[in-house]
Amino acid sequence: MGERRGRRCDPMRHVVRAEYRYDAPDEVKTWHMVRERRNGEIGHVAMCGRRLREDAETRPGTEWGRTDEVFCHSCGALYLREVPSQPLGA
Ligand SMILES: [Zn+2]
Repeated sequence: MGERRGRRCDPMRHVVRAEYRYDAPDEVKTWHMVRERRNGEIGHVAMCGRRLREDAETRPGTEWGRTDEVFCHSCGALYLREVPSQPLGA
């Protein structure tokens, strides 16, 4: 019922955050997608439920699919469902 009207002017924003293999911050294991809250805050729990370090590296959502390390498949599926209008890796 009128939900497929295309782009909304205030889309949910997402950022990409790192999950590390060890405590050392230089070896990223997997990238996850995290929802940005309306107040601009960024949490450290990924969309797939994985808890990330609070100081995990953060990148813009547009980095999805563009890093050397792998991305979380669960986050990817959820992300694509929420942001169907954004082309991947264009
Ligand atoms: Zn994930």
